[in-house]
Amino acid sequence: MSSYAPLLAALVALLAGLTIGKAWERYKLRDGKWIDRRRARESPHYILGLNFLVANQIDLAIEELSRAASLDADALEVHMILGNLYREKGQVGKAITVHQNLLQRPRLSRLEHAYVLLCLGLDYKRGGFVERALEAFTEVLRLDPKNEYALLNLQKLHEEQHQWTEAYDTRQRLSKLAGDPRPQNQAILAFLENEIGLEAMRRKEYTEATRRFEAAIDLDARAVPAYLNLGDVRVAQGHERDAATIWERVVEVAPDRAYLAFDRLEALAVRTGNPDRFTRLCRRLIEDNPQDWRARLALSRHLAASGRPSDALDLLFAALVQNPHALSIHQAIWRALAALHHPPSLVNRYGELTEHAVFYLDPHVCVRCRYRSTELLWQCPHCHDWNTFVEERIAPAQDTTEVEV
Ligand SMILES: [Zn+2]
Repeated sequence: MSSYAPLLAALVALLAGLTIGKAWERYKLRDGKWIDRRRARESPHYILGLNFLVANQIDLAIEELSRAASLDADALEVHMILGNLYREKGQVGKAITVHQNLLQRPRLSRLEHAYVLLCLGLDYKRGGFVERALEAFTEVLRLDPKNEYALLNLQKLHEEQHQWTEAYDTRQRLSKLAGDPRPQNQAILAFLENEIGLEAMRRKEYTEATRRFEAAIDLDARAVPAYLNLGDVRVAQGHERDAATIWERVVEVAPDRAYLAFDRLEALAVRTGNPDRFTRLCRRLIEDNPQDWRARLALSRHLAASGRPSDALDLLFAALVQNPHALSIHQAIWRALAALHHPPSLVNRYGELTEHAVFYLDPHVCVRCRYRSTELLWQCPHCHDWNTFVEERIAPAQDTTEVEV
């Protein structure tokens, strides 16, 4: 029995050690009194507050977390969350006060300091104090160079200010942190290069603009706006043949976005006395993708303009089967029917095709925030994300008329 005594003693010592360790972690001495560090976190108010937060009931969350915070003025994270909630509610002044007060605390660790500054930066950003927000995020990065959230917010701020070079550098830091060159990073960097190129283009610095647009394409071969702009530079420099080649590459790399180059390609083909080049391109796109209503619409416009409204109408009816809801197709049909003096058989055919159509003016929608737009946008004006727009299309209405007849 006695042989167990040392073992028992060791076990007791170990348990005692653990308990004391726990106590050290949990309590600390303040003004000669032991304070329970976790008092705020263990109060029901804290848990209730978090529950309300999850349920998106911000007012109730603020109420409960305020109570939790009043139990323990030291609980940094509770105050931090509370400040963030004020910001989310739009009470930016209050949020700033809460977070600034936290910064005044002595003995904040480097990381705590960085977190509070980050919150403050977000308050400033929300309140529109751009310079202060920039300063705060920059300081966060000095304290914590790998803070991705600070980098992301810094990038967005630079973008909002159209400081494209700074936005690019920030994004590059973020991309390096992520390690592998993720395609999404490359795509965003390409959009930023493209913006830098556009600024050079406005200053008529064509060499620099060309360099930037080419760099954008190197980063992301599907960077459609860079191709469009690069072609524009070539036109400005008097090299129209080059421009056509560049724009036609859009058709190769991103056939679904090829229509963005149609106006340019058509104007150039007509101007250089080679309109067939454009019609051939449209026909090839239609052949490759029978659902391509935009190539049909573009080709029909071209045919209508060259005095062939009947051929144009055939194409438009085919386009309508693919996308019965695109207002632009209907408008082109109205013009073609008018040019043909409304032959009853064609008017009837149109009536049959459109029986179930609804029209929309704004078919482009941001997949992130559901913002709607009449045209394809590369950066969402609402959530500021890049390349998030898709064309919303109700399923083609083909066959319905045949079924009902
Ligand atoms: Zn959006």
